[in-house]
Amino acid sequence: MSSFGYYRLQKEQMMSRLAARDGGWRCRYCGVSLKDPTNRPRQHQKNWKLPTIDHVIPLSKGGADTEENMVLACNGYEDSAVAARADIRFLRPTRLGDTLTAIATEKARGGRSGIYDVTVRNGDAVVAEFRGDSRTITR
Ligand SMILES: [Zn+2]
Repeated sequence: MSSFGYYRLQKEQMMSRLAARDGGWRCRYCGVSLKDPTNRPRQHQKNWKLPTIDHVIPLSKGGADTEENMVLACNGYEDSAVAARADIRFLRPTRLGDTLTAIATEKARGGRSGIYDVTVRNGDAVVAEFRGDSRTITR
């Protein structure tokens, strides 16, 4: 088995463990049904999304690369993408303990590029506006 095949097998085994721990093949953030990559043939799950493993506390923020810090999440277009640019406008201050709500909208998508707007609210008040560009890195 190639090292890539071994890595994929390890990843699928971890995904199966997370699905068993968290009550099924669903995105922990939005609840959408995810494909079980170990369930073949896959065509029976055509309309479901492929899962990815997300670190709840990002590795870049000191999160651990352990099962306790991992959940299953959806990947909208099933391609890997990276942030190409981001711009945040802070409009109002917030306080520790405020509950902020962020709503993201896909504004445009073409070729390997995407444009996303996110509005962050504290109650009814808009506290920040974000615009980010993505770039697909695999096809
Ligand atoms: Zn999701």
